[in-house]
Order: sequence, then structure tokens, then C-alpha cells
Amino acid sequence: MDEGYYQPYRLVEERKGSISVQYKGRTLEFLNEVLYLTEEFTGSVSVKELQVLRANALRQKPKSAANHILLQLAADVAMTDLRPILEQEAVRSADIVLVVAPDQLFEQLQVFVHPEGSRMRLADEMANHASKPNGSQILFITQTTLEKIAGAKKAKGLHAMPNGSRLKTKMLITGKPKMKEVIAENVLAYIEGSDKKDEHVIITAHYDHIGVEGGVVYNGADDDGSGTVALMEIAEALALAKAEGYGPRRSILIMPVSGEEKGLLGSRFYSDHPVLPLEKAVANLNIDMIGRTDSAHAEGPPYVYVIGSDRLSSDLHAVNEAANKDNVGIELDYAFNAADDPNRFYYRSDHYNFARKGIPCIFYFSGVHEDYHQPGDDVEKIRFDLLERRTRLVFHTAWELANREDRIRIDKPTK
Ligand SMILES: [Zn+2]
Repeated sequence: MDEGYYQPYRLVEERKGSISVQYKGRTLEFLNEVLYLTEEFTGSVSVKELQVLRANALRQKPKSAANHILLQLAADVAMTDLRPILEQEAVRSADIVLVVAPDQLFEQLQVFVHPEGSRMRLADEMANHASKPNGSQILFITQTTLEKIAGAKKAKGLHAMPNGSRLKTKMLITGKPKMKEVIAENVLAYIEGSDKKDEHVIITAHYDHIGVEGGVVYNGADDDGSGTVALMEIAEALALAKAEGYGPRRSILIMPVSGEEKGLLGSRFYSDHPVLPLEKAVANLNIDMIGRTDSAHAEGPPYVYVIGSDRLSSDLHAVNEAANKDNVGIELDYAFNAADDPNRFYYRSDHYNFARKGIPCIFYFSGVHEDYHQPGDDVEKIRFDLLERRTRLVFHTAWELANREDRIRIDKPTK
């Protein structure tokens, strides 16, 4: 570790707004005439002809698959209908998909566009991506835009055209990714164990948040300031114990990670470039938002959601339960641990990058609230009494994992 406490890694930031759509030399106005939610297309293509497909007839395969399609949605299509439609083979196999959205849907989509946002990816993984786009470039247009690019008469008569028929146009679509390299860091603090020091427990919390958007600062006191300070308190307690001659038997890696909000990137990088051998990692305890209460627990006893504890190791689950019973005594809520949890929280924070490598993990979480990913996620709203008890639970679980005679067993099938 010659970088001191840091593990730097390279990211590529892609700014929004890389796609331009021109019709007869005029660029369509983004957000009013055309919009897109994801940017897949790079390069330049002139579109002379579109294959007209109707969303409700996508299963009937047209005779020939086309690269450029115009997809017509039903007038009463809802936002929730969209994904299954766009996942149909005929759509996914096309490079350019112009979706004619009814006005109401188009207005709903406008809300989802964050023109200032950016996407970040690990530079490592970009190198493996071919320049070919990952998926179709979906472009939503309005009925009015359709009239511009196809002529008023044709646009109005579109409903009468058979599925799979062709429509002439004259468009130029270009995608020029606005890329910038960024260096980010994970922070690694290592507390060396005694007689079992070759094995280690990893405790993580992400220290990044949304940053500044539209001139507004997103402090992220709960997400994940709460986890980050919990981590520092735990590190201090462990360092103190060690200094007084009571250090843990196994080593402990305290790791504030970054890039979580951009797709769990820091933990992904670490788990692909571990500093300590992953096969010696006994467990990962991940803390992401433990400073508030959610509506399900507005009243009632202190609690924390425990997610993932029994997915790979019954021992881990038992250790956490015992640590709570013996030292903390809060309610352990397993609601989000259900395999069919529609929120899929098990896949949504940094522990998942360890779980995917077969390392048992627990995600500690106190639930979402009205300030989740909002500028109002501020420190005044943190429930420090709860934050402290939840932090103690993580500490005692880590302590037992590090000190028990036998390493916890993995006894569940890893997928
Ligand atoms: Zn978070």
C-alpha cells in the first residue's frame, strides 16, 4: 500500500447531452422536441428511412429487422408499460429507436431528465467495452416532432400504416460523448489482528454523495454521513482497544468507499483489486443510512433493518443476532431481506460487491424517508440516539467475527 491510506482508481465521467438529432440541418430542441434518458449512441448516422412498429404488435416479428425504427405507442400508455415494451427483441436489436410518445407521457418523461447530470464508469471496464453501443439509443419525440420529421400528412396517417412499413425521413443523429477522466479514492484503515491476523473483517460505508446540483448542495447527512461517522467511531474504538493491549484476533479493514452514488464503483473497484486477499475476508459489514427513521417505524422501539445476513452464512446471521441481544437490544427488522423484496436493497449498496465474490455480508440500514436524495438530508434531522445504538451493533458484530475461534462458515449456495 504505497499510496498511504488511499486506494486511488480511475473513473471516466460522461457528461449528459452527447446526442444531437438534426432534421434537414436543424437541430431538434432537447426536452421540447426530443428527449432521451440514457445515452448509448456514439458516432454519426444518417437516417433516411424508419421502420414503423406498433408497440402492441411487437411480438409479431416483421419480415426483416431494422436498425432504425419508429415505435408507436398506444395513446393511453402508462409510464410503467414502457420498460416491458422497450425490452422487446425488435426494439433492442435496433440501433436507433424513435418513440412517438403521447403528450402526457412525454411530459412525465421530461421530469426524469437531469440535463446537468453525468454518468461515471470505471476506466478499467471502459477499456473492455467495444465502441459499439451497449443498447439501442432510445429517443422520445412528440407527435408534433413527428409531423416535422415525416410531414404532417404522413404523421397523421401513421395509425393506418401496416406494422413494419417504411417511412422516409432525412435525419442526422450524432453521439459525441463528453468524457473526462476523474481520479477517485477508497480509504483503507487497517487494524492488524493478533493470532488470526491473516483473516480479516471488512467494514464499509460510502463517503460520497450527490454533491451540488443546480447550485444546491446535497449534504447527505444520513446518506451516508451517518455510516461514515459510525465507521470512524468503530475505528477509534478498535484502535483504542489495540493500544491498550486488547486488539482483535483477526485483522479489521475499515474502508470508507467512494463512487457509491454513481453505481457502487469504489467497492466494485476494491473487490476487483483487493489489497488483502479476498479469500481471507471473513465478512463485510456495510453501513449505508442508519441515522433516521422511516414511516414504518415513526413510532415504536429503536430498530435497524438487517439485510443479507443469512444469504450466505447462517453463522453470520447468528453472530449479529447474538451481538444485538447481548449488547444492544434493538429491533432487527428483516422486511427488506425478503428474496422478493421489490426494492432490491440487497443489490443496492456496497456490500453487494463483496457478496458477488462469495463473501458473507450484512447491510445495516434505517430505511428511506422524505429527504432521501434531497437537499434536506441535513444533520439536524439525524437521530443520534439511534445512530449510536446501531453503530454499537455493527461494532459488536465485527468484534465477535474478529475474535471467535472459528471463522464463520459459508453454508448457503452462492449464486
Ligand atoms: Zn447511500
